[in-house]
Amino acid sequence: MEMRHDPILNYKRTVLIVDDEEVNRLLLGSILEDDYNIIYAENGREAWDVISEKTSTISIVLLDLLMPEMNGFEVIKMMQRNVITAAIPVIVLTSEKAMEVESLRLGAADFISKPYDMPEIILARVNRMVQFFEDKQVISSVERDELTGIYTKRFFFKYCEKLDKFHPDVKTDAIMVDVDHYGLLKELYGNDMAEGVLRICAKTLYLYAGKHEGIAGRGEEDTFYAYLMATGDHTELAAELNKRVAEEFPDTNIHIRVGVFKRESRDVSLLNSFHYAQIAGDTISGDYSALVAVYDNELRNATLFKDRLIHDIKAGIETGQFVVYYQPKYAIQGDRPRLCGAEALVRWFHKDFGFLTPDKYISLFEQNGLIQLVDRFVWKETAEQIKKWKDRYDLDLPVSVNASRMDLFDPKLSDVLLEITKAAGISPQDLHVEVTESAYAKDQDRMIEAVKKIRDNGFAIEMDDFGTGYSALNILCSIPLDVLKLDMSFVRQMESSHENEMMVDIILDMAKMLGVEVNAEGVETGVQLDKLKKLGCDMVQGFYFSKPVPPAEFEKFMEKEIREKSE
Ligand code: C2E
Ligand code: MG
Ligand code: MG
Repeated sequence: MEMRHDPILNYKRTVLIVDDEEVNRLLLGSILEDDYNIIYAENGREAWDVISEKTSTISIVLLDLLMPEMNGFEVIKMMQRNVITAAIPVIVLTSEKAMEVESLRLGAADFISKPYDMPEIILARVNRMVQFFEDKQVISSVERDELTGIYTKRFFFKYCEKLDKFHPDVKTDAIMVDVDHYGLLKELYGNDMAEGVLRICAKTLYLYAGKHEGIAGRGEEDTFYAYLMATGDHTELAAELNKRVAEEFPDTNIHIRVGVFKRESRDVSLLNSFHYAQIAGDTISGDYSALVAVYDNELRNATLFKDRLIHDIKAGIETGQFVVYYQPKYAIQGDRPRLCGAEALVRWFHKDFGFLTPDKYISLFEQNGLIQLVDRFVWKETAEQIKKWKDRYDLDLPVSVNASRMDLFDPKLSDVLLEITKAAGISPQDLHVEVTESAYAKDQDRMIEAVKKIRDNGFAIEMDDFGTGYSALNILCSIPLDVLKLDMSFVRQMESSHENEMMVDIILDMAKMLGVEVNAEGVETGVQLDKLKKLGCDMVQGFYFSKPVPPAEFEKFMEKEIREKSE
């Protein structure tokens, strides 16, 4: 019988022949060798090793039943324990009728009786079985990820469910594999190389899963999953992944990290299990000395804490738990430092947890979009505060608010800002908008477009945390902005070396050329202040003058400024 002539499928398939007697092996081999690649194994143990190593390449197993070490029945049983190996057809080789029945019952597809007297019949039966099983599996081409050949996410999860049904009481491990900074890697080394890394990860994970009673699949772009019916610490997997990638790409420094969730009961859903594995893996992102992280109690508590914050945010805003603090900004180039503005910074006094600093929730809310709720509240609150101060004091003090990347994606953003200022009775010139440099890392054109729209409406744009992203200096030429906020790490480093001071000097020169003012953040000492003044920095903000304070306290700075102005 002829094999299929599909150009993709028409390759020489592989048969595994397992028999402890050499004559038998060779005899079968000679019948099949024109049509198949042959792999031999002398006993069940060897056969199982080959099957778990080469699961995807073996089309059929011809299996003797009576063998030393591990017999054929046990091999069949092992193969049946895993959905992937169970899909490989097995033809048993035996001379005893009773065993034929038993092996068919266990899951063998067919049998061939010994001694082998009719070669053409044997060949035909093998061909027929291979074709039959492949037809049954045609679906499998859509189940496989095109790039790596392992399961797509959708089918991976489907098979996980199947495994769960087969093994309802087994403790399992959910594993996540992720390439650190994949986007950066792609940019630095190109797509081909990056895809090469993905293929190595997929293959290594696939082989590992095969050896540990499990399956592997591809998640998002550079994320892979494995689900194992066995538990372990998986340091071997992590070491192997990093070793293989390092061998293939010796001049790079790529970090592959593994996150593990030990699923001890089925109360935790499959989806959550992998989510937790991901959370564990994320804790070692960028930490080249750590390759594996297991989801533990500490992480569990951190996750619960985050869930609580997400749950509480709406009520928190509605019941006044969120308030806005203001940090003064000082212009430093005159004969005395002059109060010239403020930054609005949000504070959360949580009803159960007490005061929470923004690092506990800003990035969390940025991930799920809730930041928009916080920001709109802060913008509105700030606009109303500006109005009160304008009515009370004769000072021109623009206040800046922070906007997140998420906000910039909102097409209504500039309308929202206009409405807020209008409702409060202030003009767009009174409100500045801070956008952090890293917001431009992705979708730069879209971000620029959004920022331009706000700026055209009269809101000044401040670039926050400049120097913390990895954008080059020339980004300043393409982004519309009015004020550059030098990240506080510069102020810190400025003192430690002359080079760092020069760096600040260069940025200041560049900004001057572009007609952009510079505000140095995190100024804590008089020495820092003097240095910045000498270098020509326009403004500073930092604990040297004041930490962020509630409005009533901020008013003291305004009153002081009015006094000094009139002196
Ligand atoms: P940022 O916008 O760069 O704000 C400056 C941060 O530096 C503030 O931290 C401020 O308290 C702190 N800081 C100011 N001067 C000094 C100093 O001299 N030394 C030190 N060590 N720190 C100083 P905060 O208030 O904890 O805010 C952290 C970040 O959270 C902010 O960084 C901003 O990115 C974000 N954030 C705060 N409020 C909001 C908000 O309403 N909306 C959004 N989207 N983000 C906000
Ligand atoms: Mg800011
Ligand atoms: Mg900043």
